[in-house]
Amino acid sequence: MINSEKAFVQNQIIGLIVSNMVNVDFWEILLRCPKCGIENEATLGQLKRGESIQCIACATKISLQDENGRVAKVTRQVQDVMESLEKTVEKIGGSLKLK
Ligand SMILES: [Zn+2]
Repeated sequence: MINSEKAFVQNQIIGLIVSNMVNVDFWEILLRCPKCGIENEATLGQLKRGESIQCIACATKISLQDENGRVAKVTRQVQDVMESLEKTVEKIGGSLKLK
């Protein structure tokens, strides 16, 4: 690709479409039930808040623990990156579109 074509493509950006997963707290995690081994789903938000879920197969209560707040720290970093991406897109005249 020649340089002028590259510049043309870059100038066509008018927005950024992201999924409704822009809030990392809604990202899902899979975890195995310690009792029956079935995979269960929870969100990073639930994990950060230390909530409990019930196994979908055997109803065992599984308590989610964010050991030393490590997940909270990393999700904060990811959230910062998403927000900075949003600001960058706005600077070049676009907008962040939530899908
Ligand atoms: Zn289970």
